[in-house]
Amino acid sequence: MKRVALNIAAVLAVAGVGAFTGAQAQEYPGNKPVQAVVPFAAGGPTDKVARELTMIMSKHLGTTIVIENLGGAGGTIGAKKVAQSKGDGYTILIHHIGMSTAPALYRNLGFDPLKDFEMVGEVADVPMVMVGNKQLPPATFKDLVPYIKANASKLSLANAGIGSASHLCGLLFQSALQTELTTVPYKGTAPALTDILGGQVNLMCDQTTNIAGQLKAGALKPYAAMQSRRVEAFKDIPTAAEQGMPGVEVKIWHAMYAPKGTPKPIIDKLSAALQKSVQDPNFRAKMAELGAEAVPAQRATPDSLRTFLTSEINKWTPVIKKAGVYAD
Ligand code: ASP
Repeated sequence: MKRVALNIAAVLAVAGVGAFTGAQAQEYPGNKPVQAVVPFAAGGPTDKVARELTMIMSKHLGTTIVIENLGGAGGTIGAKKVAQSKGDGYTILIHHIGMSTAPALYRNLGFDPLKDFEMVGEVADVPMVMVGNKQLPPATFKDLVPYIKANASKLSLANAGIGSASHLCGLLFQSALQTELTTVPYKGTAPALTDILGGQVNLMCDQTTNIAGQLKAGALKPYAAMQSRRVEAFKDIPTAAEQGMPGVEVKIWHAMYAPKGTPKPIIDKLSAALQKSVQDPNFRAKMAELGAEAVPAQRATPDSLRTFLTSEINKWTPVIKKAGVYAD
């Protein structure tokens, strides 16, 4: 008898948990704020996309989305924190291409991008430009290449840690150059940019979302667009291929995730708000101004992100393994 009673209690407990989750999902988000972890420093390219997005998405979701910057180790510290957070819809992650390169770069990553997260959707695509500080003598990318080869031991290349966009772009650049530079890791390219402007480091491959203002003000030397075509907002910057270095192309993409186990109704609400946000004319205009492009609504969905993330992991893993680079 006692045993039966215990079993009934267990069944009720399970049913209770289920009902609680369902009710919670229905009420979500209520007026509780959502915390969006950005795994890079404040003021940088990922942060800029995230701030523009969350300002608009807060309105579509019906509650405030607050950003927490948790930079370091190419974005893996912040991503791990979200993977280990409660899947209740109140912690989300806004990350970039680094989500697909981390599994190959870190042997002790501590999370699996495909298994430890629920996908919400893609956000925006962002081009990269190789820039240098104004004190660097070469005027063009064509002149920069022989200059680097002759002065490699004296030149430094900044990045946001292993697996960051700036690191990947720098890897491709150095491999095309067949020359190694001293690399300097930061918690994000915002603090790296301060040092580029101050002349403490010489070069960086960065997202236009971080450097648009300085490019417009002429505060940096823009050497090359690191993609196959010129950047719409910066048509005067020739591509690396146009200047004799084909194949150094990196497209940065941003996406939104929630911890594994976040109930589907909550993911659906987040994704619906994301889809409205990427179509919002203000968000699209803001991205365009920064040289970036908001994704179409059909890419701001869990299915699209899962397919794309899988294809990006499959694309980068062999490249990184072949290069034999590890972060740990
Ligand atoms: N997205 C940048 C990078 O990967 C880092 C940042 O957002 O600060 O280089």
